[in-house]
Amino acid sequence: MDFSSIQIPIPFALAVVATLGYVFGRRTRRGASDSIHRSGRDLRRANAVALELERIASEVRKSLARHHASLSGFRNRVSKLDDGQREAAWKDLCREVEGVLKPTLQLASQIATAYDEIRLQSANLMTFTEVRTDSLTGVNNRRGLDDTLAAQFAMMHRYNHPFAIAMIDIDHFKVVNDREGHLAGDAMLQDLAKLLDEGVRDTDIVARYGGEEFVLVMPQTELFGASVFAERLRCQVAATMDLTISVGVAAATDGDTPHSLVARADSALYGAKAAGRNCAWRHDGKQAEAVVEEIALDAV
Ligand code: GH3
Ligand code: MG
Ligand code: MG
Repeated sequence: MDFSSIQIPIPFALAVVATLGYVFGRRTRRGASDSIHRSGRDLRRANAVALELERIASEVRKSLARHHASLSGFRNRVSKLDDGQREAAWKDLCREVEGVLKPTLQLASQIATAYDEIRLQSANLMTFTEVRTDSLTGVNNRRGLDDTLAAQFAMMHRYNHPFAIAMIDIDHFKVVNDREGHLAGDAMLQDLAKLLDEGVRDTDIVARYGGEEFVLVMPQTELFGASVFAERLRCQVAATMDLTISVGVAAATDGDTPHSLVARADSALYGAKAAGRNCAWRHDGKQAEAVVEEIALDAV
């Protein structure tokens, strides 16, 4: 540590930069979508670490100022020593040096602990994100979807917040794979995931359910709004990509479980496939029906 000038120590400055970089890095969301709940929690954790570092920095600065003054006095006294006083004075000075060094060592140990904490938190967050991310497309995987649905059901039961899901399946994808090869198929899956992720609200969650099936979770959305949005997405895919999708929409009800909700969306999707594909269907709890008709009726 540099005792001659009172500055923020380099290790601390690096730690703050690393923390800020980490926080801002996680806020630039596009590419691999995370749940809002998760990034909120990450942010709170990172903030807590940053606050702790700020507290340590302030202590370091105060302590350095004190040490600077002590060392000046120490230097003065050493220069004034003459042979007669040496024995007793050295003992005094040694005690003073110990007094100066002890808090410094404590601070160094606090900084080291803060580093360990940052490393641990970063590793935990990386693991948390990695195990919930689909490696091909960067959106949530099944585990991420399970967590999201569990959280949405909890919100619905506690606060009565509605939510809906859309199950999306690429039409005739086997043909695409056969015609253009598996790698081209993979690239299409990535493009579709990107389109979905960028097309949805920040509060919506996109997950890859399996092979070429995706699930979109729409918090605070009723069946009608979800149907309109699903139809818009379908049109966007048909207009901008070299493929089409079929969509099944369902809204969560009190008696639902994640399994029964997904089964309803899947049943609506089956209806869309049976109706000729490249269309959106919804399931209202009793039956599945085409979304376009519903929107057309609503517009009358
Ligand atoms: P449908 O319109 O009835 O959905 O026809 P489909 O050919 O899409 O049929 P289905 O959904 O049953 O087929 C899934 C196909 O998706 C099988 C496989 O060729 C392809 N697929 C699944 N996972 C992947 C993947 O990770 N990469 C690639 N390239 N293709 C995949
Ligand atoms: Mg499929
Ligand atoms: Mg398919």
